[in-house]
Amino acid sequence: MRERLFYLISKYNLKPNRNLGQNFLIVPDIIERNVERAGLSEKDTVLEVGPGLGVLTDALAGRAGKVYAIEKDSLLVKILRNEYDWPNVEIIEGDALKVPFPEFNKIVSNLPYQISSPVTFRFLKHEFERAVLIYQLEFAQRMVAKPGEKNYSRLSLMIRAKAHAEIAERIGRGAFWPKPEVDSAVVILEPKPPEERIELDENLVRALFQHRRSTVLSALKKSHHMLGLTKEEFKRVKGILSRIPHANERVFQLSPEDVWEIEEFLGEEGIIPLTP
Ligand code: SAM
Repeated sequence: MRERLFYLISKYNLKPNRNLGQNFLIVPDIIERNVERAGLSEKDTVLEVGPGLGVLTDALAGRAGKVYAIEKDSLLVKILRNEYDWPNVEIIEGDALKVPFPEFNKIVSNLPYQISSPVTFRFLKHEFERAVLIYQLEFAQRMVAKPGEKNYSRLSLMIRAKAHAEIAERIGRGAFWPKPEVDSAVVILEPKPPEERIELDENLVRALFQHRRSTVLSALKKSHHMLGLTKEEFKRVKGILSRIPHANERVFQLSPEDVWEIEEFLGEEGIIPLTP
């Protein structure tokens, strides 16, 4: 696998593109473990974002019924099409943030870190069973943080509102070529059942987490403009806001359910648009 990767790199005289997060996996064990974690069989259709030079794609093709691999770099797309003859892989040339996703039930990817957040939330707009994804370690730690923990952030809350996430393994920089400047981690992401998912007002979450160590009341006061309120309007609703649920809790302690209660209160009081 490693030999094949370096053979392709020298054959095509490839210069990895940092802007596209091109750090290729060179440790076969990690690939094997991720394929195992996805629990693939012939019945599965896998989505891969960023197949690169196909090392992970090759392992996925050996186990899944079908693999869709979305790659933005047209040179890599050409190499993948020239060098491999997978009967069950469809390479889609394009930007994973823009091209329509095909139907899939699992995702396995070594993601380009630049698009970690938008692509993850794009995944979560689709129905799937499980994703096994490699992220930058610090991002992964924020994804899995629980309310009250040091890394708990807007990202943690928004992920928690829709899915279960856990870190399966940390990966050192030496597992990639070229070596990235940061460590990585494998995250297993499983969407919650639809009835448990919470659709939160992103504006409100942003306004709150702008001041994550403040109390809810003080965070809203400091970021009232983000809710579309002028200073005067905020003064007018100040009395109402003193009754807001979780008023004196710190923002970084709020669960998605807590934010949902705050959102409902603000909606019912006409302070923000009611959630449909
Ligand atoms: N899967 C390969 C591996 O593990 O060796 C490559 C992973 S590399 C971290 C990320 C890959 O994503 C690169 O091939 C890069 O060209 C591709 N990529 C970057 N941005 C992309 C985007 N917006 N849409 C699709 N692919 C993208």
